[in-house]
Amino acid sequence: MTSAGRFAPSPSGELHVGNLRTAILAWLFARSSGRRFLLRVEDLDRARAGAEALQLRDLAAVGVTWDGDAVRQTARGTLYEDAIGRLQQAGLTYECYCTRREIQEAPSAPHAPQGAYPGTCRNLDAAELEFKRSTRPAAVRLRAGVQEYTVRDVLHGEYTGVVDDFVLRRNDGVTAYNLAVVVDDAAQGIDQVVRGDDLLPSTPRQAYLASLLDIPLPEYAHVPLVVNDDGARLAKRDGAVTLADLAETGVSVQDVRNRLLVSLGLPPGTLQQALASFDPDRLPKQPWVWKA
Ligand code: GLU
Repeated sequence: MTSAGRFAPSPSGELHVGNLRTAILAWLFARSSGRRFLLRVEDLDRARAGAEALQLRDLAAVGVTWDGDAVRQTARGTLYEDAIGRLQQAGLTYECYCTRREIQEAPSAPHAPQGAYPGTCRNLDAAELEFKRSTRPAAVRLRAGVQEYTVRDVLHGEYTGVVDDFVLRRNDGVTAYNLAVVVDDAAQGIDQVVRGDDLLPSTPRQAYLASLLDIPLPEYAHVPLVVNDDGARLAKRDGAVTLADLAETGVSVQDVRNRLLVSLGLPPGTLQQALASFDPDRLPKQPWVWKA
């Protein structure tokens, strides 16, 4: 399989300029390194009717092209269950019956990093398990053998972050993002992951999981986000931030693309033209403030 990069939006609504900037970057990273570029709709959770079509339309409008059809995570359940099955067979999972509230209220384990699952269900005996099984459906957690893991990132260098017994399958049966993303990237031959740097803290968990599944790690590049005037991650409530909103205020798609390219230190024009000037080493390292 030839190597590939990807963009993997969650179809929770229209893409805003921050999402589009990340997509453009992922495209530039992939195309400038001779990779294919794939699109994956991460619709396991937070999917809103109609959002996928609008997202694909807006990506195409700014000039992001992809190879083959976009894939949807909801069509890939067997792949996820196979991976969970392999981990189960290797004794690397356990059932968890905790509610969110119970997790919040549990005393954290000694030396456990902040925010880590406290391990309540890690070593239940047969009687406890039998009782818990009668209370509610189980989530499946990873039985992690480490508390942290180090990854390499093109923009951040070495990054060490928390690995806890994170959820692989939620108790409503939905595959968890951290499992799906690792399995999908591997199955799709993706060896370059470019995405917003809000996902950097999840990356050690994903890389550790990949190691347990004998999956080679992709190249990671976590790119700075677009923020509003207050420095908070851009959101729909920040005004005219989607292509449709901006078109209504007289800003064309080309104008938006040019602003995004210029914000990356690249010349205005098409993405194809920007490729010639694209150099990952010269990308801005700071968040970019969107001014409507
Ligand atoms: N679906 C995730 C999001 O839209 C991105 C996941 C990824 O790129 O790994 O935030």
